[in-house]
Amino acid sequence: MRTDRTFTMLKPDSVEKGYIGAILEKITGAGFKIVAMKLTQMTQSDAETFYAVHNERPFFGELVEYMTRGPIVAAVLEKENAVQDFRTLIGATNPADAAEGTIRKMYAASMGENAVHGSDSDENAEIESQFHFAGREIF
Ligand code: UDP
Ligand code: MG
Repeated sequence: MRTDRTFTMLKPDSVEKGYIGAILEKITGAGFKIVAMKLTQMTQSDAETFYAVHNERPFFGELVEYMTRGPIVAAVLEKENAVQDFRTLIGATNPADAAEGTIRKMYAASMGENAVHGSDSDENAEIESQFHFAGREIF
């Protein structure tokens, strides 16, 4: 299992607000190399599958509605210690708890609409990358 890759989504709120460029600048400025990227929109079934681990949680319905309401930017990022370093860069799930300078502190509106996704393990980074990209789309 490789440890130098993670998967991210710039969520619909980031795209709607015109934050794609600014967020990508933060990501590449922190030393992450983009090895796959596209603008895409998740279907209801995509979002239910991607977030299946949360399907018993009270926020699941809202989460699926949010994640399917418009396009996202999906990307695979490469850097040493990618998963952990990217979680540090994005900050806490709730932007109110996120550290100064983190992407969620700067660009997220709320716990529900929190601007970006970051994989939580090397295994999930691999699963999530393969969910969104064919092998020939990852460089
Ligand atoms: N979420 C929410 N309410 C909560 C917890 C999570 O709406 O109480 C949403 C939020 O968009 C979050 C996503 O569900 O990013 C996945 O939750 P997780 O706990 O995996 O947070 P993350 O790994 O994204 O920080
Ligand atoms: Mg998570």
